[in-house]
Amino acid sequence: MKPVDVLIVGAGPVGLTLACDLARRGAGFRLIDSALRPFEGSRGKTLQPRTLELMDDLGVIDWIMARGEWTPAIRTHQQGGEITIEHLFGARPPTPDTPYPRAFTIAQNLTEEILRRRLAELGGRIEYGVGLVALEQTAEDVVLTLSTATGEETQRASYVVGCDGGRSTVRGLLGVSFDGDTDETRRLYVADVRLSGLDRTTWHSWRGPAGMLNLAPLATTDLFQCQASIPPQAPDQPTIELLQSIIDERTGSDNIRVLDMAWSTAWRLNVRLAAHYRVGRAFLAGDACHVHSPAGAQGLNTGFQDAYNLGWKIAGALRGAPAALLDSYEAERRPIAAWMLGMTSALEAQSFDMKGLPTDRDERMLHLTLNYRDSVLAREERAAAGRVLAGDRIPDATGLVWNGKPARLFDVLRGPRPTVLAFGEGWGGALAALRARFPEAQLAIVQIGPRGDVVDAEGRLAAGLGIAGAPLLVVRPDKYLGLATDRADAAEVEAYLQSLIG
Ligand SMILES: Cc1cc2nc3c(=O)[nH]c(=O)nc-3n(C[C@H](O)[C@H](O)[C@H](O)COP(=O)(O)OP(=O)(O)OC[C@H]3O[C@@H](n4cnc5c(N)ncnc54)[C@H](O)[C@@H]3O)c2cc1C
Repeated sequence: MKPVDVLIVGAGPVGLTLACDLARRGAGFRLIDSALRPFEGSRGKTLQPRTLELMDDLGVIDWIMARGEWTPAIRTHQQGGEITIEHLFGARPPTPDTPYPRAFTIAQNLTEEILRRRLAELGGRIEYGVGLVALEQTAEDVVLTLSTATGEETQRASYVVGCDGGRSTVRGLLGVSFDGDTDETRRLYVADVRLSGLDRTTWHSWRGPAGMLNLAPLATTDLFQCQASIPPQAPDQPTIELLQSIIDERTGSDNIRVLDMAWSTAWRLNVRLAAHYRVGRAFLAGDACHVHSPAGAQGLNTGFQDAYNLGWKIAGALRGAPAALLDSYEAERRPIAAWMLGMTSALEAQSFDMKGLPTDRDERMLHLTLNYRDSVLAREERAAAGRVLAGDRIPDATGLVWNGKPARLFDVLRGPRPTVLAFGEGWGGALAALRARFPEAQLAIVQIGPRGDVVDAEGRLAAGLGIAGAPLLVVRPDKYLGLATDRADAAEVEAYLQSLIG
C-alpha cells in the first residue's frame, strides 16, 4: 500500500467529520471501519448550537435542517395521563450573532448519512470491513496493520487518528489509560420504535417509582427514540414485549402500543477520560478519548468539535507547521472534555434521582461560550481588548455588504482557510506582504471599511466583536479568534499565520 498522510480509524460521526475536513484541505487519507456497513440507530440525536455553526461551515447545514427539527418541548406526564410540566429546552430566538440558538434533534444515523454524502461530494470514500489490529511508530511515520476480508495488510501513514469509539483499539495499542468509573446500577434501554397512541408534537417523559421513561419523536422518520431505565434482573437486550410492559407500567395506561423496533441497545453509565489525546504521531478523538452519560447531549457534539479542532492542525503539520500546533490539540480539547464529564455526571445523577429529564441548561452546554483563551495559539495583543478575546468563538454578524452583496460574517468566513479581518485603512502594507506570502487557497484576507471588501455600514460587526479602534484579527480555520493586534507589523502576523498554516 502506498503511504498516506493520515489513516483515520472509525467512520462514525467523528471519523467522518475529520475525513470531510481533510478532504477539503487536499490532505491524503484512508478512512477505515471494521464494521461491514454504516451504523443504524438514533443514539446521539441532539446537536448543540456550536456544532450547527460548524456544520454550516462544513457545507452540510441545509441537509441537517431538512432531516431534523428544533428540539421540541418536553412534556412530563404523571402516571394516568395528567401533564405536570411542559418545558422547552433553552427556548431562545436566533440573534444576529447566534443564528442557531438552541438544540436541534436529528437521529445520529441521519447525521452520519449526511456526513457520508458530504464526504462523497468531496471525493472521499469509506472502506468498510477493514479494521486496525496493530500500530507501531517510527520517527518518520506510523506503521499500521489492517485486517481485511482478504487477510492482513500493512499501511504506512504520517499520522493515525483513532476515531474508533469508546472501546478504541488505537487507545489500547498506544497504552493510553482511560480512567474513570462504570456504574452497573445505572442502565438504560435505548431503542428506536414505531408506536401508536402517542402524539409526535413534543418529547414525552414519565417519572415514577419504577423508573424513567422518555419517548422522543425522531423528525422525518416514523420512529420514536425510547429511553427507559432497566428494571433489576431484566435482560441486556430489550424485546418489543419487554418495552411494551415497561411503557404500560410507567405510563399507567395501555394507550401506547409498540408496533415495531428498528434498533436497540442497552447502555450503562461509563464515565472515562483518556490520559492523553496524542502519543507521537497518533491521536484520539471523540468517544475514543471521552465517554460519559448521554444526559445533556454532549458526546457527538464534543467529538465533532474534536475533529474540527484537529483536521486543520494535521493539515498544517503536513505542510511543515511547528510542533506546537499539534500539541495544542490535547491542550485545547482535553480540559473541555474534563469539564463536560463532570457536568454530564451531575445531570445524570439529577435525572436518576428525579426519574425524569432535567431541563436546566448551562450556557456552556450549547458550546457557544467554550473557549481556548489559555491556548498557546491565543494571542491577545491589543491595547484595548474587545468583547471577543483571542481564543473565543467568533460570533456571527448581520447587515454586512460583501463585494457588493448582502452577507453575514459566517458567509465571509465559511470554508477551510483561516481569515485575516483587517479593520480600517491602515493595513495596506501588511496585507500586501501577506498576499505575497500566502496563496489565496491558504488564506482569506478581508478588509473591512467603507471602501473595503466588507462594508459594515451599520457597525454591527464592530459592535458584536466589541472592537475599539482598527485592529487586525486572525480567525482560525475552526472559527475561533487566534491573533488580535493593533500593531501594523506584517512580520508578526506572518509568523503567527505560518504557525497555523505551515
Ligand atoms: C443512548 C445514547 C444517547 C446519546 N445521545 C447523545 C446526544 O443526544 N448528543 C450527543 O452529542 N451524543 C449523544 N450520544 C453519544 C454519541 O452517540 C457518541 O458520542 C458518538 O457516537 C461518538 O462518535 P465516534 O465517532 O467517536 O464513535 P462511534 O460512533 O462509536 O464510531 C466508532 C467507529 O469506529 C469503528 N471501529 C471500532 N474499532 C475499530 C477498529 N479497530 N478498526 C476500524 N474501525 C473501528 C466502529 O465500527 C464505529 O463505526 C449518545 C450515546 C448514547 C449511547
